[in-house]
Amino acid sequence: MNHEYINQFNVIDHYVLGHLTASEAEEFEDHFIDCPTCVDQLNTTRSLVQDLKGLAVQETLVLGREKAPSTRGRSLKRLVPNRLSMAVAFGCIVVAGVLSFVALRRITQLEAELRQTREAASTVRQEYQLSLATAAESERQQQEARQQLAQRVDELERKLKDDERDQSSVRGLGTSEVNFPIFALVSVPRGQVPAPTEIVLPTSSPRFAFSIPVEDTRDFSVYRVTIVDQRGRTVWKLSGFRPDQYHSLSLSLSSSLLVPGTYDLRVDGLMPPNEWSTVGSYPFRFTRLKKVR
Ligand SMILES: [Zn+2]
Repeated sequence: MNHEYINQFNVIDHYVLGHLTASEAEEFEDHFIDCPTCVDQLNTTRSLVQDLKGLAVQETLVLGREKAPSTRGRSLKRLVPNRLSMAVAFGCIVVAGVLSFVALRRITQLEAELRQTREAASTVRQEYQLSLATAAESERQQQEARQQLAQRVDELERKLKDDERDQSSVRGLGTSEVNFPIFALVSVPRGQVPAPTEIVLPTSSPRFAFSIPVEDTRDFSVYRVTIVDQRGRTVWKLSGFRPDQYHSLSLSLSSSLLVPGTYDLRVDGLMPPNEWSTVGSYPFRFTRLKKVR
């Protein structure tokens, strides 16, 4: 007996199940002593058959308990072919296997779904926390902006009040400065007899102003005005004058500065680096108008 023959005619199965004749069994035994493949297969088949037999025995016991009250059942059980029990058992195994496979697949699916849900929940939680943080930040910024605005409003209000105060103080002066007289002086060319300009000041005017045309076309950086009385005493002096667009200097004086009399107003111009040069002489006679009753 050779290996091909054994495979072709399932000799191993027949041997295990005891279907071989004595001589066939002997021939097979002679072969498998030297064939590890056949020994392996023989062992596998044996254990499979034993398992199936064990299942069949269990099945029989279960059937036996169910049918116990009936003696006919017991005799029927004996009539059930062993082969059918084995088939039923095998079917059970297959069904159980399929069921466990399906269950396993379902569990895997559920696990995956659970994992996805957890991930989604975690993402949502993160987004929520992030949006909370963002909201807090924007709230803080808004508060800051509100504070800055409030500060600015306060500052503006303070400034406005200051301005109002300034304006009211200016207005306080202004009431007496309205309609104050302005006198245009005329320069006397050098060497000529001075003809003083008549300045007649109403008693109601606490201030008056001079407009002094500068005819000297030299370019002075700044001008100085000096008022000298008849006796040659300087009664008023100030530098820092600059001509306006009509090339005139202007200055306002308090009426109380001058007593009636004749004066000379002298204008000097500053030449660099530090040299005063006479620009013109503007004599005037100052009188106060008597109040008419
Ligand atoms: Zn063999």
